[in-house]
Amino acid sequence: MDKIAKLNRRPKARSGSADSTDAGARPSRAEAEDAVRTLIRWAGDNPAREGLAGTPARVVRAYEEWFSGNFEDPQEYLRRTFEEVAGYDEIVLLRDIRFESHCEHHIAPIIGRVHIGYLPRDRVVGISKLVRLVDVYAKRLQVQEKMTAEIAKCLNIVLKPFGVGVVVEATHECMTTRGAHRPEVSMVTSCMLGSFRTRAETRNEFLSTINLKGVARRNNGD
Ligand SMILES: [Zn+2]
Repeated sequence: MDKIAKLNRRPKARSGSADSTDAGARPSRAEAEDAVRTLIRWAGDNPAREGLAGTPARVVRAYEEWFSGNFEDPQEYLRRTFEEVAGYDEIVLLRDIRFESHCEHHIAPIIGRVHIGYLPRDRVVGISKLVRLVDVYAKRLQVQEKMTAEIAKCLNIVLKPFGVGVVVEATHECMTTRGAHRPEVSMVTSCMLGSFRTRAETRNEFLSTINLKGVARRNNGD
């Protein structure tokens, strides 16, 4: 239950908004469950019928898990966990970090993979920490482009590497199950900073290792 206790802390204001009143007070669990009942009625169903009786409580618990990243500060987390290493001067690359997020437009799942590469100056971070970093950003309402940039910037600020590259590939269920109904479409976003942006050689080494030639071509043009 520790995790849930932690959730009662007020989230830090996000997206550079200085207005701490923007999110409003966090509603009570009972209020959140009532809101789920309203949505069930909106869907044309009866929240009082037997099969749905426990649903509001389950949905609210699922939200605690899906959006737990709102209650954590990834920069602070990374600062506590990096290690100093001198002398390693090749790219550190972690490929295929699976993530599950939700789009901020429809609260529909975004499921995909993140690839992270960086060229350390003197600080590195363990594999599990990078996975955790992705999770903190994924477990928020997101836009894929923003999540890509946020992961790259966080690594850049805390590890101060020579360069960072982040590529995210994902499918958006708001596109596959509604609206455009395009199950075959996946979205690829990338953010290159430092030497990954300025040196084609570094960037291409990263992109060829994660095997995304399309992204390599696009980034060569800028
Ligand atoms: Zn959406």
